[in-house]
Amino acid sequence: MSLFNNTLAQIEKAASLIGLNEDVLHILSEPQRKVEVSIPVRMDDGSLRLFEGFRVQHNNVCGPYKGGFRYHTQVDMEEVKALSAWMTIKCAVVGIPLGGAKGGVVVNPKELSEGEIERLTRNYVRLLEPVIGPDMDIPAPDVNTNAKIMDWFADEYSKLKGKDMKGVVTGKSLENGGSKGRSAATAQGGVYILDEFLREKDIKPEETTIVVQGFGNAGETAARLLTEEGYKVVGVSDSQGGIVCAHAVNPEEISSCKTDKSSVVHCGDPADCRRVTNEDLLELECDVLVLAAMENQLTKENAPLVKAKYILELANGPITPEADETLKQKNICIIPDILANAGGVTVSYFEMLQNADNNYLSEEEINEKLKEIMVTAWQEVKTNAEKYECTLREAAYATALGRLEEKLSEL
Ligand code: GLU
Repeated sequence: MSLFNNTLAQIEKAASLIGLNEDVLHILSEPQRKVEVSIPVRMDDGSLRLFEGFRVQHNNVCGPYKGGFRYHTQVDMEEVKALSAWMTIKCAVVGIPLGGAKGGVVVNPKELSEGEIERLTRNYVRLLEPVIGPDMDIPAPDVNTNAKIMDWFADEYSKLKGKDMKGVVTGKSLENGGSKGRSAATAQGGVYILDEFLREKDIKPEETTIVVQGFGNAGETAARLLTEEGYKVVGVSDSQGGIVCAHAVNPEEISSCKTDKSSVVHCGDPADCRRVTNEDLLELECDVLVLAAMENQLTKENAPLVKAKYILELANGPITPEADETLKQKNICIIPDILANAGGVTVSYFEMLQNADNNYLSEEEINEKLKEIMVTAWQEVKTNAEKYECTLREAAYATALGRLEEKLSEL
């Protein structure tokens, strides 16, 4: 089953639960626009390479298309379609006036020099120029893309338009019109929800062990924020493998060690920690498993072996629909991606507003506004879970589809 079909399966499940209008389901079952580009890049050795790139605009009934773009070898049209649909749903879960889009380029950025990545980014912008813009489609960071890349993106688009158009992209550096709190926002939003979720169950941070899969922007920040709140992060991983420790790790130490030694597998106190494979990490005994890597990590093969009590999905689509079913039967409660990681796009929305007004908020103000949106969405999702006696994922879809149905009925 393709990733986009996974997304449709999730949408259809919730659609039948709430009796969604068939036309609405039909509209959401295909993106509104799919763009495929071939990006020429002059490499440092003088050769010319072509990279395959995509931008998919799923739906804009709630507002301009919005969503990140990633640089990864696994990118293809089906993946980008799925990720774009999740953006439409995600923005509707938290009720921000934005639609859904996603982009990606098939490339391993670790094999490119900084200059090559800059030229790739600038040429990607040139090819997307007709379909993006501050009121049309606003890209942002995603897997392997960051503030520096967003700054090049904004600069290239502004050059093409002959004026300052920084609002074309979010997730920029602070010097170039980014928002305070944006780089931590995906993790911060998820942490706000996890806090509420565990507080309602009367579970204290000090009693909670956490394993984090993925030590990119979301995973690393989540590990740090959770540790600051007193949670015990006892396992972390990256693409090369992971470590599990008898005592809580210090995420900041792991971060600087990873920068030095290229992977978390070489980090942590050897007397306290042992190395595990990525497969083993997912099966560790812990209270909360945070999935912050890529899609399709828990499948029908390994879901029966999961021992965590709760799962927080910071990545997009880390659990397949079959695995979801298995985890439901095992009574493992999942805080779903479309709610848990919506903090990133929410602060992107704040960045858009700040760019438009040329008025910038403090980190405290941003986090306060973010918390309010996340907690409100959490309460709505929980209410729907009780109303429809369903999982949090189904309830989050129900919340989003309800909003989209209202907007689409105006068509
Ligand atoms: N890439 C992030 C996501 O998947 C953020 C998107 C955005 O800020 O537009 O939600």
